[in-house]
Amino acid sequence: MDSDDQVTGPHRYRNNQRMVPAAEAAWGLSAANGMLDIRVEAVAGQNRLRDIRTGHEFLNLSSCSYLGLNNHPTVVASGAEALREQGITGLAMAEFRIRLDVMRRLEDELSALFGCYVLPSISCGSISSAVLPLLASGHLTDTEPMVVVFDKFAHFSMNFVKPVVADEAKVITCPHNDMQFLEDVCKAYPRVAYVCEGAYSIGGMADLKGMQDLQERYGLYLYIDDSHALSIQGANGEGYARSVFTELNDKTMIVASIAKAFGSTGGIAMIGTSRKYDFLYRSGPLGWSQGLRTAAIGTSLGSIAVHRTPELGRRQRQLAQNIEIFDRRFGHRDVRGTGGHIKFVLTRDNDRAVRLATRLYERGYYCSAMFFPIVAKDQAGVRLMLRGDMTSAMTEAFCSTLEDAWNELR
Ligand SMILES: *Cc1c(COP(=O)(O)O)cnc(C)c1O
Repeated sequence: MDSDDQVTGPHRYRNNQRMVPAAEAAWGLSAANGMLDIRVEAVAGQNRLRDIRTGHEFLNLSSCSYLGLNNHPTVVASGAEALREQGITGLAMAEFRIRLDVMRRLEDELSALFGCYVLPSISCGSISSAVLPLLASGHLTDTEPMVVVFDKFAHFSMNFVKPVVADEAKVITCPHNDMQFLEDVCKAYPRVAYVCEGAYSIGGMADLKGMQDLQERYGLYLYIDDSHALSIQGANGEGYARSVFTELNDKTMIVASIAKAFGSTGGIAMIGTSRKYDFLYRSGPLGWSQGLRTAAIGTSLGSIAVHRTPELGRRQRQLAQNIEIFDRRFGHRDVRGTGGHIKFVLTRDNDRAVRLATRLYERGYYCSAMFFPIVAKDQAGVRLMLRGDMTSAMTEAFCSTLEDAWNELR
């Protein structure tokens, strides 16, 4: 037997013994109120879902398909067309050996649309799992390991890989958006990477200018997950991070899910123009048997087509309009996310969060109650997302309902 007979892990970056019971208690509260496992049919896109068991109809404010491209006729038709054309769901093998030519076409079209080399894969989460350990070991730079600083609010899909990253290099978690902290790390170590989001999933934005400044002065590597801003910002939908990092250098990688506003399924990495990262396909999660399936390639090509029409701008502007409507009515300190499409109504305790979400649902709106461990312990609340496929009238009506439901709770 091993001399080290300790069974429990060191719990340096995760602790299921603690997390699972805490999370399940909170989820149980949601489930008891009928707010989980709702089965629906889409009567009219995301604005009218019908609970097939009760007939209750509601508008979905928990969808990350912020522009409604998930039910755009062009996107849906392209998925079906690709399947018909190719006559095969996929090759079921590592893509770096053989892939359908339509996949190469997708890569080229995404690269042209976003103005940089784009590597598409099955999900943003799998891209982070593949990239972050290689980033830590230095294989995206000069093969020397680097200190990897995770923003405290970085998404679960990145935090999830922390133990693997920590097996390669030093890992530090920094306070949210703390550029001074980050600068101190840059001063202490020659090679540093910062892992963060662009537009944060719980609301708020990264300090892109501060990050750029540190990159220029210290050579800081930036790994930015812009899942919540892709498609909804930028002339071609290139997202929030690209508003500052217009030309991607070899020390900046921007990743994003294309299952959100982009309206398809999968994830992408934007990695500059050098195209030197082919080997990512051969490393772990991107090299296993799943590539993007034919239908997904088709819906993505369809979404690219829509991105190239004035309709993208129209939907982006409607979203901006809806944000304005909401912000005019809720300039309150307990409503976070001013200026953005992701709003968080702070109730502080789990019970009130679930009660607010349940009341809203009864009145025709699904919003998500959120609690520890998704958010910090005393930061429970209700998250909702505005969309560009909601009319101004829908947004106004929702605001009135939220106001009423919230007042009743206080
Ligand atoms: C949703 C989300 C992901 C996961 O994207 P997948 O493509 O589903 O893996 C990753 N990062 C952020 C910030 C997200 O919000």
